[in-house]
Amino acid sequence: MTFLTRTTVINTVQEVIRHGVNDMSVVEEIRCSNCGAPIPFNPGEIVATCRYCGFTQVIETGKAFVFEHSLVMNEYKQEQVDDLVHNWMRGGFMKPGDMVRASKILEKNLMYLPFWLVHVTATSSYKGVFERLTPPVVKDGKVEKEYNWLVLARKATDFPTREYEVPLKGKIPYDFKKIQGFAKVLNSEVEKEDAVEVAKQQIESLHRFLAQEDVDKIIDMKTDYEMGDAVYLHAPIWFIVYEYKKERYNIILDGATGTVIKGDIPTAKFGLI
Ligand SMILES: [Zn+2]
Repeated sequence: MTFLTRTTVINTVQEVIRHGVNDMSVVEEIRCSNCGAPIPFNPGEIVATCRYCGFTQVIETGKAFVFEHSLVMNEYKQEQVDDLVHNWMRGGFMKPGDMVRASKILEKNLMYLPFWLVHVTATSSYKGVFERLTPPVVKDGKVEKEYNWLVLARKATDFPTREYEVPLKGKIPYDFKKIQGFAKVLNSEVEKEDAVEVAKQQIESLHRFLAQEDVDKIIDMKTDYEMGDAVYLHAPIWFIVYEYKKERYNIILDGATGTVIKGDIPTAKFGLI
């Protein structure tokens, strides 16, 4: 689903991180209802997973989280990530030719980010004006699609969810024992109902975009949703920082498939020919 313009610059990806685990203001703690271990959490977090026993609970009530909780596994070791980054640097004609040679990878952090995966069939009926004819005509149309719509369960808004296709093939029930020791797991800050609302809004704007390929002006549009399950899911994302000619750049990489979801590319300095 890449209907949004792809931009190359990630300014605030770090926000996802800073907002979470690297935040020095971790002030609160609950006890795991299952094993009694302390579970630190940040203000704003709603659902937390115990790192000792994997029990997932609602912070406010301490009760078990009742929805399906899934895990997509990371398939790469830290050393392998360098190769993935270098391959990405070599591909594509927008990149400087000396990128691999002149770059240095400074940071590689694996994080399991929380998402809501909302299964929904959305049907939009619209009426619009097709103006490319004289005289313009009014026509009706319909966009109907089934989605597994991904919503990041963090308040940070700039993670490129629309450019990220969760590799659902590798989805397993959440198992904390499968999480690498060096990885961080972020808790959810978004409730299921809110995630469903976000999904509906985003789908509606996608359908509006699609309808506008059919009519020039939308007069009226109505969207109906047939809701399926929403699954809570942790998926592995590598946050990588590299340096190129004394500047720092970011890359977000999918730890399940090894593909770069989004990466900063230094502006190639083309000489005058
Ligand atoms: Zn526990």
